[in-house]
Amino acid sequence: MNDDRTGRGAAIVVRDVHKDFDGGVVRALRGVDLDVLVGEWVAVVGPSGCGKSTLLHLLAALDSPTSGRVRVLDHDLAALDDPARYRRSVVGLVFQLHNLVPHLTAAQNVEIALFGTHRSRGERRRRALELLADVDLAGLERRQPTRLSGGERQRVAIARALANNPPVVLADEPTGSLDTASATRVTGVFERLRDDRPELTIVMVTHDPRVAARADRVIEMCDGIVVGGQAATART
Ligand code: ADP
Ligand code: MG
Repeated sequence: MNDDRTGRGAAIVVRDVHKDFDGGVVRALRGVDLDVLVGEWVAVVGPSGCGKSTLLHLLAALDSPTSGRVRVLDHDLAALDDPARYRRSVVGLVFQLHNLVPHLTAAQNVEIALFGTHRSRGERRRRALELLADVDLAGLERRQPTRLSGGERQRVAIARALANNPPVVLADEPTGSLDTASATRVTGVFERLRDDRPELTIVMVTHDPRVAARADRVIEMCDGIVVGGQAATART
């Protein structure tokens, strides 16, 4: 299943996906087609309400399309045996509101993602510390989220998303609530990821043109469809 030009396979294939809400009153997606190659970093841009988050939720199997097909690596999302397992092992999720557990430390917040993975407590702890060091948070492992800055919290969320080495990371406006300096550091973490893990596929919704500029490709959405940037068609 390699792409003709690059030799890389398809990580994500979306075909004619529609998503209605409220019995069809809201047509959030109106025929989305999207191909993302393994190892690509794609930025998704477009006006508020155009369906970006809805698309990301479908890719994360947090919701299912009204019609159309979504495939992520070998997984046909309409036929997942175990959606929870898919969310735990195939996709790492980073959202603007990072959903850290407030009374747990940074390290414990990362360790949560490692429960149910056959790792011992000591191994989980070691892995969490390693992941936090990778996002430049060494020394802050014992802080609770309320004692971290917005950018630091977002980096904890990234560490947590990467805990199980997912092949795909889905990020919804990860720098949306951050000041410029923090946004730059968070973007830097993604840039380093791209350099260190060439196989990692990243789909990132962003309003920030500086963040989008770092991606390999920018996909533009409008009114529930992709209107620009859909060039890398993989064979399916
Ligand atoms: P974006 O992320 O691009 O701002 P969304 O994907 O969040 O846009 O939303 C697309 C459209 O779908 C909007 O009109 C939004 O109000 C609507 N929408 C999203 N989620 C729901 C939902 N759970 N119920 C009803 N309407 C929704
Ligand atoms: Mg959104």
